[in-house]
Amino acid sequence: MSNLWFPYAQMKTMPPPLKVVAAKGTKLCLQDGRELIDAISSWWCVIHGYNHPKINAALKEQMEKFSHVMLGGLTHDPAEKLAEELVRITGLSHVFFADSGSVGIEVAMKMAVQFWKNQGVEGKHKFACLLRGYHGDTSGAMSLGDPEDGMHHLFKGYLPKQFFIEPDLRKMEILFKEHGKEIAAFVCEPLLQGAGGFYFYPPDFLRGAKELCDRYNVLLIADEVATGFGRTGTMFACEQAGIVPDIMVLGKGLTAGYLGLSATLATDKIYNSFFKEAFMHGPTFMGNALACSVALASLEIFERENYLQKIARINEILKEELLGFEAKGVRETRVLGACGVIETETEDAHKGIQEFAAARGVWLRPFLRVVYTMPPYVISEDELRKVCGVMKEFF
Ligand SMILES: *Cc1c(COP(=O)(O)O)cnc(C)c1O
Repeated sequence: MSNLWFPYAQMKTMPPPLKVVAAKGTKLCLQDGRELIDAISSWWCVIHGYNHPKINAALKEQMEKFSHVMLGGLTHDPAEKLAEELVRITGLSHVFFADSGSVGIEVAMKMAVQFWKNQGVEGKHKFACLLRGYHGDTSGAMSLGDPEDGMHHLFKGYLPKQFFIEPDLRKMEILFKEHGKEIAAFVCEPLLQGAGGFYFYPPDFLRGAKELCDRYNVLLIADEVATGFGRTGTMFACEQAGIVPDIMVLGKGLTAGYLGLSATLATDKIYNSFFKEAFMHGPTFMGNALACSVALASLEIFERENYLQKIARINEILKEELLGFEAKGVRETRVLGACGVIETETEDAHKGIQEFAAARGVWLRPFLRVVYTMPPYVISEDELRKVCGVMKEFF
């Protein structure tokens, strides 16, 4: 029927996908005439909604100048300005662009490993990671994901073995005491673990983790691909712990869902260590001018229209609607920033909710034991209450 190979789905049993013919604001318009509120922002990236006039204009304007030039030996304003803006809002100092979150993580891993070599320290090739984490689908990134419960457990024999712990400082210190000399960096999704099952942990752990990392000579890589740009209530989740990581990775919301782009940011300490040896990485499309222009426009809208306030309002509504909700098959509900989760007792407990919600005008995509919403920040109160209502009504 279709020559397309779809992600994360068994091709023989996958229900027919819904065909989108247009999208505007929070709405997906389907070929059959239905309109669905996108409650999950197309995998968390469409933060301003679809078809935003200011972002469209920025894209067209850059396209008329040029769409892309290589970043090897050439440079351009959109990449330079975006790097400057990202440095301003993160507190890190240098920006390496790539084309997806996964590749941004690969870049971070290579930076960390080479940093120690640059320092003349040998043997630091491993990573410490959190159980239930997810960092992408490429090989290095897969190795950082949960080896048992994560979606990549099939590839276990193929991947390098990393160290995994609970978000628990005592366990972290035991690991660092025993294996710190082998560990290049600790990698985590700060505060909100997304694709591993939507688990939250407190800022105290992150603050303590940074101290332990510094004490045991382990770098800290904050994977803010999902949490960056407001999702946990602050611009970046790291802010809530008051830390600046050694390396930070941004993606998803960076281009508001328009184009593939990631940014791996590093401090002066990391960057300056590369003054003797080049960093051997350079994706063809790194620093793509269209993607950088879109990211600049997105950030301007975010700041000018005070999105953190919109996110605070979304947070209040999610709490009102979801916290305390009890029903058969529901284990727990939780809310952080603009993320609301219903965790079920089993994976079967939410079977059919995607079709149920679509029939009621809402696009949801549950996985593992979670039904969640991470709405575009432009969602109206009525729309958000409708999304939550449909999530609850199913149970
Ligand atoms: C989505 C995600 C990635 C991978 O990003 P892609 O653009 O899909 O490669 C990495 N880390 C986290 C935390 C993510 O949520």
